[in-house]
Amino acid sequence: MGRIIAVANQKGGVGKTTTCVNLSSAIAIQGKSVLLVDLDPQGNATSGLGVDPRSLTKTVYNCLIEKDNPKDIWIKTDVPGLFLLPANADLAGAEIELVNVEGREQHLKEALLKVAGLHDFVFLDCPPALGLLTINALNAAQSVLVPVQCEYYAMEGLSRLLSSIDRVRQSWNPSLILEGIVLTMFDARNTLARQVSEQVRSHFGAQVFQAVIPRNVTLAEAPSYGRPGILYNAASSGSQAYVALAKEYLSHGEKSAR
Ligand code: ADP
Ligand code: MG
Repeated sequence: MGRIIAVANQKGGVGKTTTCVNLSSAIAIQGKSVLLVDLDPQGNATSGLGVDPRSLTKTVYNCLIEKDNPKDIWIKTDVPGLFLLPANADLAGAEIELVNVEGREQHLKEALLKVAGLHDFVFLDCPPALGLLTINALNAAQSVLVPVQCEYYAMEGLSRLLSSIDRVRQSWNPSLILEGIVLTMFDARNTLARQVSEQVRSHFGAQVFQAVIPRNVTLAEAPSYGRPGILYNAASSGSQAYVALAKEYLSHGEKSAR
């Protein structure tokens, strides 16, 4: 059975998609089979992996609403071992269409059960909201990875995210855990960024990954070429930081034998 990780933070622009694309690529390059599920109607993970969201006739929307098998829809990416279950603007409708449906919080979980065991890891790139799509992700996942941007309002909203995680744990998914917090867009020359990073570490302790993602031009540019950083410029500090995060993440799993 593969491990399913929701990458969530209801704030936009904190590095969820960048983390999903680059961490899943770095793990795939380590020889694992990885599925990345784009759960944002903006389709940034989809376009960031070189797939034009507007060209798609079937997406994760069809898995959620029409119960299509993800296997019939996912796309092999240019990264060996990495598959993408894409999204486009259709997904915005799913949130509304699911509202009155019985078991509306479980549709993603049911879809992923159809392909259980086919990948070592499944990453869920959540939209910037705590709506039904994110709740579906938290229900389907075993753990949550939270990217936090090193800026002034970094901690704001984290308590709301943690209480959503608690709520999902109590209602449906008792074994859901916080996988960890990843500090993103870190600029060591910036005093505020250093202060925020210290504040997050003193508050969350060992739950914060040692690997820190720097603000880096490769990570910002690569999506416009439809490539993860590691294929666009593997030597860049951003690509290397995600490789380090992947190694730390994989060794975590071995240590705790989860
Ligand atoms: P989210 O998915 O949380 O909305 P994104 O991953 O899309 O956030 O990141 C927001 C913007 O910041 C994007 O334009 C992305 O390319 C850029 N970005 C993300 N991480 C970095 C980084 N480490 N260095 C430079 N730019 C980054
Ligand atoms: Mg995103």
